[in-house]
Amino acid sequence: NLGNRFQEIFKKVRGNGVLNESNIKDALKEVRLALLEADVNYKVVKEFVGKVKEKAVGETVLKGINPAQQFIKIVHDELVELLGGTNARLTKANKPPTIIMLAGLQGAGKTTFAAKLAKFLKKKGEKPYLVGADIYRPAAMKQLQVLGESIGVGVFTIEGSQDAVKICEEGITKSKEEHATYIILDTAGRLHIDENLMDELKEIKKMARPQEILLVVDAMTGQDAVNVASKFNETLNIDGVVVTKLDGDARGGAALSIKAVSGKPIKFIGVGEKLEDIELFHPDRLASRILGMGDVVSLVEKAQEAIDEDEAKRLEEKIKKQEFDLEDFLKQLQNIKKLGPISNLLKMIPGANQIGDLAPAEKEMKKVEAIIQSMTKEERSKPKIINASRKKRIAKGSGTNVHEVNKLLQQFEQMKKMMKMFSGGSMPKIPGMKFP
Ligand code: GDP
Ligand code: MG
Repeated sequence: NLGNRFQEIFKKVRGNGVLNESNIKDALKEVRLALLEADVNYKVVKEFVGKVKEKAVGETVLKGINPAQQFIKIVHDELVELLGGTNARLTKANKPPTIIMLAGLQGAGKTTFAAKLAKFLKKKGEKPYLVGADIYRPAAMKQLQVLGESIGVGVFTIEGSQDAVKICEEGITKSKEEHATYIILDTAGRLHIDENLMDELKEIKKMARPQEILLVVDAMTGQDAVNVASKFNETLNIDGVVVTKLDGDARGGAALSIKAVSGKPIKFIGVGEKLEDIELFHPDRLASRILGMGDVVSLVEKAQEAIDEDEAKRLEEKIKKQEFDLEDFLKQLQNIKKLGPISNLLKMIPGANQIGDLAPAEKEMKKVEAIIQSMTKEERSKPKIINASRKKRIAKGSGTNVHEVNKLLQQFEQMKKMMKMFSGGSMPKIPGMKFP
């Protein structure tokens, strides 16, 4: 299992202070193997390992945790990213009912999921209605009817009908008459993807115009599930994926590559045959489950918070005493960078998309960082000693020019003056952003 595998890997990560290419080499190799073994698509694996490496190299190990734990956190965060980052939720119609169309191969778990979802929605106070349009599988309609009865949810089908589109159409009409808030269309599957199946699904989509088309895939089928997701998405333009049977000995590889390969997020998972065995998909939970190390992740998060608090207090003291220097400034810049590209940060602020191209600001930040990094420790703490020849040296070292070094020093002095005004109060939130 992937979790145990990682446990082993991280025992090998040694070294104190900083994660570097050599002390994470073996760990990365094992991450790669473990993912391939879990049946994750090889292209996805390659990209993933590259990203983990990029994040890990140069990371300082936090107080109170070991390099292995820090590495786990990095892998965890990348896993979350790979799984789609945020939690993807169902789209709701502006005016009820919301129509949800299920699709997928035979045996994937569509009918079971239809009932699970109906139960899930009913618990939330909604009024779901089920429509059974599997006209091929013997007893398919009976199956849905039995499930519907067991949860007290209405089911519409036309026994013996050979027209799936018509069943859906009448089912929608009936559901509306019953004032359903959600209509779940359970469709037929085939053993393999074929033209006929796709044509039928396209027809149903055209008629029903669902808010959500959810593709149901079986985690046990590994890479096949990923291919199925891509194919269905190409023809149907699905809205999300449901991964079933994650309770079995499925290696999780399907869940890991679906978003990366098909571009569509997982919205629900099935974790058992019973109708309660449905979960909203939480990328962070699955990442922790795959790693089998949720506690380590929260430990590292706490360590990070502690460091940030220590830092903030220390900086506040320094500002009060007017000792804030370029070294502190560099640290602040690097902290900001840890949060990700500025453009991503601003995406979270409504209206910020109107600010325009942020590439120049990001480039400027990098330049400022390079300039400070080219200074000696003494120069950083006492910028006054930076004379003309030192400026020349710093400009050369940072690939900038003396004019730019001057500009930075002037702006830093201005910032310090501003901080004087703030002193007694707290830090300006993002001092780096005050720079050009
Ligand atoms: P359909 O052909 O896509 O409609 O698939 P069904 O809903 O009929 O399910 C096929 C089989 O998979 C049934 O035996 C279900 O009990 C089983 N099944 C569905 N979802 C899950 C799940 O999340 N976990 C497990 N273990 N079995 C499941
Ligand atoms: Mg079925």
